[in-house]
Amino acid sequence: MRIARFSLDGNVAFGIVHPSAPTEREQSPSDDPVIEIIKGHPFADFERSGKTLPLSAVRLLSPVLPNKVVAVGRNYAEHARELGHEVPDDPVLFFKPSTAVAGPGDPVAYPTYSSEVHHEAELAVVIGRMCHRVPRERAREVILGYTCANDITARDVQRREAQWVRAKGFDSSCPLGPWVETDLDPTSVTIMCTVNGEQRQLGNTSEMVRPIEELIAHISEAMTLLPGDVILTGTPAGVGPLHVGDEVAVTIEGIGTLTNKVIKRD
Ligand code: MG
Repeated sequence: MRIARFSLDGNVAFGIVHPSAPTEREQSPSDDPVIEIIKGHPFADFERSGKTLPLSAVRLLSPVLPNKVVAVGRNYAEHARELGHEVPDDPVLFFKPSTAVAGPGDPVAYPTYSSEVHHEAELAVVIGRMCHRVPRERAREVILGYTCANDITARDVQRREAQWVRAKGFDSSCPLGPWVETDLDPTSVTIMCTVNGEQRQLGNTSEMVRPIEELIAHISEAMTLLPGDVILTGTPAGVGPLHVGDEVAVTIEGIGTLTNKVIKRD
């Protein structure tokens, strides 16, 4: 199931994205994708309303509003090497603040204090329920689903500053979307990043040094995870620069494509 968050005429709701109108309902005569509004939210039992809208009529928002985004660095060996690092013994963890989150189609504003901003295409795990100290073998139980993320990074600032707060925490540095796919098997799906249509990154989640279950166990040993929290699982090799005017797209097999345009910060 694909669960999106969207706005229409100033109202915000969650909905289920269908590739075409559910056949038994005949509410839409075309084969265009539709969104079926749900009553409530996806972190508890919810009801389908049966009411559908053309997907093109709504504005998709970031599929969740996380309390925190916990990100993992150097989780693909080839990417660690391209930046001149080894894979660390323990996962490198950092936060991206909730204010860094942007939705599909939202602009990414180039920070004023950087001249080297990079894309990092990543699989994002969306937590479905409050949890802490989750054993590896139960990690799947706390996952709502998966979405695409771009861990946008001011690389020059990351090299200069010990803490990555400014390098990875600026406004709009964490695009998420276009929706949460709840039925994905994330163990072996391709991750791709294109800039202006040109391929920059191509990897597979099977190359992760530490699998998702291990990351959830490791992170939740330290802190409680809340419904809607997001874990970024690291980026494959091929990171590179973004410039004002670029259109950057992250595509993950079985999920979809998250596209954002880089703009100059006002
Ligand atoms: Mg990253």
